[in-house]
Parts: sequence; structure tokens; C-alpha cells
Amino acid sequence: MANGERVVRTSCRGCHGICQVLVHLDAQGRVTEIKGDPESPTSRGYICCKGRYAPELLYHPDRLLRPLRRKGPRGSGRWEAIGWEEALSQMAGVLDRIRRESGPEYIALCQGTGRPYTEFTSRFIHALGSPNFVSPGHNCFLPRTIASDITVGWLPQPDIYGSGGQMPDCILQIGQNSPAFGSADGICGGMIRRAMDSAREVIVVDPRRTPTARTATHHLQIRPGTDCALVLAMLHVILGEGLYDSDFVERHCTGFRELQAHVAGFAPEWAEPITQIPAEQIRAAARVFAGTRPACVLWGNGLDMSINAFQVARSILLLIAVTGNLDVPGGMVRWVPPDGIRPKSPLVDPSIRGDQFLTGGQKARMIGAGRFPFTPGCHQPTFWQSCVTGKPYRPRAVWLVGTNPMLTGTRGDLIEEALLRHIEFSVVSDFFMTPEAELADLVLPAAHWLEQEDVVYLHKIWCVIARHKLAHQGEVRDDRDVMLDLAHRLGLEKAFPWPDRHAYLNWLLEPSGITFEDFAALGFVRGEMRYRKHEKEGFPTPSGRVELLSSIMTRAGRPPLPVFVEPPLSPQERPDLAGDYPLTLISGCKILPFFHSEGRHLPSLRRMHPNPRVDVHPDTATRLSLLAGKEAWVTTPHGRAQFIVHLDSSLQPSVVHAEHAWWFPEEPGPDHGWRRSNANLLFGHDNFDPDSGAELLKSGICRLEPGTA
Ligand code: SF4
Repeated sequence: MANGERVVRTSCRGCHGICQVLVHLDAQGRVTEIKGDPESPTSRGYICCKGRYAPELLYHPDRLLRPLRRKGPRGSGRWEAIGWEEALSQMAGVLDRIRRESGPEYIALCQGTGRPYTEFTSRFIHALGSPNFVSPGHNCFLPRTIASDITVGWLPQPDIYGSGGQMPDCILQIGQNSPAFGSADGICGGMIRRAMDSAREVIVVDPRRTPTARTATHHLQIRPGTDCALVLAMLHVILGEGLYDSDFVERHCTGFRELQAHVAGFAPEWAEPITQIPAEQIRAAARVFAGTRPACVLWGNGLDMSINAFQVARSILLLIAVTGNLDVPGGMVRWVPPDGIRPKSPLVDPSIRGDQFLTGGQKARMIGAGRFPFTPGCHQPTFWQSCVTGKPYRPRAVWLVGTNPMLTGTRGDLIEEALLRHIEFSVVSDFFMTPEAELADLVLPAAHWLEQEDVVYLHKIWCVIARHKLAHQGEVRDDRDVMLDLAHRLGLEKAFPWPDRHAYLNWLLEPSGITFEDFAALGFVRGEMRYRKHEKEGFPTPSGRVELLSSIMTRAGRPPLPVFVEPPLSPQERPDLAGDYPLTLISGCKILPFFHSEGRHLPSLRRMHPNPRVDVHPDTATRLSLLAGKEAWVTTPHGRAQFIVHLDSSLQPSVVHAEHAWWFPEEPGPDHGWRRSNANLLFGHDNFDPDSGAELLKSGICRLEPGTA
């Protein structure tokens, strides 16, 4: 290119999609533009607005560029800029003192939705001797992951790339809508759209008639929170009509007879009043899914945030298994990663997250240990409650890395109280001054993905791709560099033997005999896919088979076959509240311009989506005198929050959707308006999935009123 301009191929991390992109730099090395990479085998030119406008975040004038230490009282907004040496020396000193005085479990690390370095965050806190690694995993992805582990032995992934010369002929999308909002779970939304366009049958289960649902061959407009009942009824049809894969079931499954007897009572006519989907539609969808092979399932965290999270995940895994769609081309597969590259995903090699550094006694000291049999790590709501109540003990230090739990968690009120009054020492690593950072003792400026080099290990796909460091603002640091430095100051070299992050990346690549520089030049290494691995290896479950009847659930004293439980706050379950709260409330549908709470600073993204919306059917809006573009209150038995009315005829008239994770960085701190439109405060805090500890955020009750007061 002319005048020293250049274009570099790298991978985006604006969300979980990890699309490959082309970054344009001018002669001064400044990022000027980001485009999709048409030659990428993982994203084929796709890019969304979050990726395209990443330079606005990189160069934003409000970005944190130096470590800050609190000078005044918490929340006073008085800070002094300090150097990294001072910041890390203070942090190491405090953590070491608390470790010696009270024990390492009094220190916790909180992380947001899957960072690209989860292996480092969990490894750091475990190496320190604390089991309190706190993440939102119980509400996102991990109920499905753990259910997969105990049922199949691995996490089935949709084979939507045509790797085996076969695209899916049928796609069931349930609890997500990636084609519309970007990407989830490491799979590019653009690739899902492509697969849907080539499939003969697309079944979309969604309470909204979204554009994706409108282009589907079957749209099941489900009542929120009843997915498990729907899948049980589909299993009833498939097993009752002999539409299952008898060869696969006989050779590779346990508990088929028990499952058959179990679902005999769950006819579509049973499910119709529960799901509000006509029985004939359920029957038709079941026949199509079983009869159109190969079929795959795209599932999302719409399923996770429910008291049925674990059971619905199990029911879908059973649906996949009995229809013979496991590890076949175009079905639900276990990818073969590239040889010679050490896996850095805890889902492939759990030892990378450092559980082995904890003793049995330390694990037993995890806050919330034993409360839920299948919850991942320290249960987030239980953790914050302990910080306030001191039961069973009160953590003294917390490090929040890339997370805004007051906005995205469910106990924002408790978290604020904990950070203001109870936690002795809190550190926040982030791009901007968030509501949590405003209450911290130290604030550390984090590097953006354009400022990081990485070996991006796609455990959910089939390749490893490179990320290049292309920019550097102020004194920002990669969070992994910060952890390495601290680990060495705290004597954790056994867990962190690498002198720096570059050495760590080279260690990942070491078995292949190439360096990071070699790898960066290659950009992409694929695995050699093999299908039907179970024919030789079986399934890594206790029985070596797919456990339709789960031996692990039995041992845990939980139902070994999926059961449906009515959402506790539904009009059906609480008719006594139906007069005051006649509408069903859902929240958390993804918003294309934002990645959870991230992106509200960026002018281009805010122009696309300026305000927090409550989506309402036009008939409901008319009945309640709500005007499009005007404020409305959403009120529940647990609180109220303010949103802007957005008319949406894709919803059923009885259902409303309130957006999540809104805050207003343009408003003064320390609050930045975090409470005003916080949908997560509307669902109460008493209802958990008894298996995974997931919370109820997809099926509540509410009323709507116009007004600004
Ligand atoms: S979908 Fe995610 S990874 Fe892909 S371009 Fe958008 S933000 Fe980046």
C-alpha cells in the first residue's frame, strides 16, 4: 500500500465470535479501519458493528491510560495517577498480607463473560490458594457445558462449516439468535446465517417472531421459560413414533427404555397449554427434526437463565443423541484440535485453570461450596451475599477483571454495598471508569484486543488463529502481563513459570516446534477432523455411553431424566399476583451494537441504539397508553426500572422484553445511572436452578406504566 500504510489480518475479540478481520493502519501506525476478512475460513468476510467500530474504543478520550489510586473516600471521584511499579507493589503487598493473616480464600477474583484468558484468571486465583473464582458462568453457557459433560462426555458443537463435505440439513435454534446480534459461544453469527440459508429445514424456538424466525420453515412461538416441556414433548413424538436412530441408541446409549417410559406422559397435548404452542406444531417440528438428517442445534443462554437450565440442556442433548446426530458430518460434533498446540481452553484441558493447585481443604472453603451440585466455581450471587453478611465468612480483597457485575449480575445492590462498605481492598481492571471502578482502591488500565497478541484457541471450532498487537495507548497493559507480574511477586512461579506473556505463547506452541512469530505469519492452523470417534473410543462418561439416564445425576440425588418445572413467577404459578403484574417479562436478548455492558461509550454504536428499550407489542402499548419513544416504568414485585418504549409486533401481546446491562457513562459518577434501567434488579433473588444455580432472568412478571416520575 502507498505511503507506509498497511493491512494486517488478525482476529476480533469484540465478542465471543472471534471473526478474522483486516485491520488498516496508516503510515503513523494508527488504526483507521477494520473490515471483515473474505478469506477467513471461520468468518468468510463477516464483521459486525462492534468489530467495525473498535477503533472508537481504542482511541476513546475517556479510556483509562494509567493506573489510578484512590485519594478520597470511596466513590468521591478523587484519584491520583501512579506508575505500574507502585500499583503492583501495593497490590502484591495487600494480597500477601491478607493471605497470611486470614487465609488465601479471603481473596477473590471476579471475571466477566468469557475473557480470552480465562485460563490465566482462574489459574492465578487458584495458584494463590483461593477457590473463590467468581464468574457469571452459572447464568451463561456453563449449565449447558456441565450437562454435556455428564451426558455425552464432551460439548457437542454444530458442524456448520461443511468440514465433512456435508452441511446440516436441519437446524434447530433455541434460546439464542446469533444470526441477528453477532456471535455467541465461539461461533460466528454470519456462519450460522450461511448454514441456515443452505439447510432444508430451520426450526426456530423463540417467544419473538424475529427476522430469523420469519425466515425459518418452523417457528415455535414459545411461552418464556417452558423450553424443557417443548423438548420433552418432541422426545415423546420421536420415541413414540419410532423416529429415533435405533442403531445408535442400542450401541451407544444407556437408559433408553427408562427415557421411553419417562416421556410417554409428555404428549404434545400435555405441552400445548404449558408452552402455548399448538400440539400439531410440536408434532410437526419433532418429525422434521428426527427425519431431516444431519441435524444440529444452536442453543444459547436464553436457556441458561432459568430454574430449568440444567434440565433443559439435558433434554436437548438427549434429543441430539436419540436422533443419531452426535459426531456425524453436519450434526453435533467434537472438533479435533490441531496437533502440537497446547490447549489453553479449560474445556479441553481443565488443568490449565489450575484446580490442581488447590488442596481438598481449600476447595471446601469455596463460598457456596455444595449449595448446587453442578455449579461452576464460586456461585456469584452467593459470593456477593457473603461479602455483605459475612456468612460463612467475608472476603477481604477482590479483583474485578473485565467485569461489571453491578450491571450484568443480579445483585447490583449488594455488590455496591460490598464494595462501598465491606471489602477492605478492591481492584478493577477495565477500559473505562465503570460504576465498580468508581468504588475501587486501585484501577488498572487494560489492553484492548487491538493491543494484544495471542494464540486464539478455538476449542469450540477446529483451528487456532493468531491475534496481533497493532496499537498501544498510554500505559495500558494486557491483563495477563499484570497477572504474571503479580504471580512472580507472590511466589507463584510454579504455576506461572513463564517470564512474560510472549514466553507463555511460545510455550503453547512449543510441541509444534514453531514460535509465536512463525505462527503469526501463518495466522491459522486447522485440526484434522475425524467423525464418529465414538465407534472406536466410546463416550467419556462413567458408562462409556451417552447417558440418557444419568448415573451422575442419580448419585447427586437429582432427577436422572429431564423434568420440567413451571417458572416460579409466571401468571400460571402465581395467579395471586396476576392482577397487579399481568404481563410476562423477559430480559437479556442481545443487542447487536453492544457486548453486554460494553460499548455504551462509543458514539457510532450509541447512535445506532441510544437508549435502553422495553419492547412492547403495539396492541399492548395502545391499551396501556404507552407511546413509542417515550419513557415507561417496568414494575415487578421486586422493583421498578425505566426504559424507552419500542413497539415490536414480533412479541406476543402478553410478553414484554427489557434490555439488560444498561448504564450511562456520560452521566456523572460514581453511579453513571447504573440503577435506573437495570432489568436484572426486577426478577428477585430467591429462585435458582437447583442443579446449576442459574438465576431466573427470562420469565418474570410485570406491569407497564407510562411516565417519567
Ligand atoms: S461478531 Fe464479535 S468477533 Fe465478530 S466482528 Fe462482531 S464483535 Fe467481532
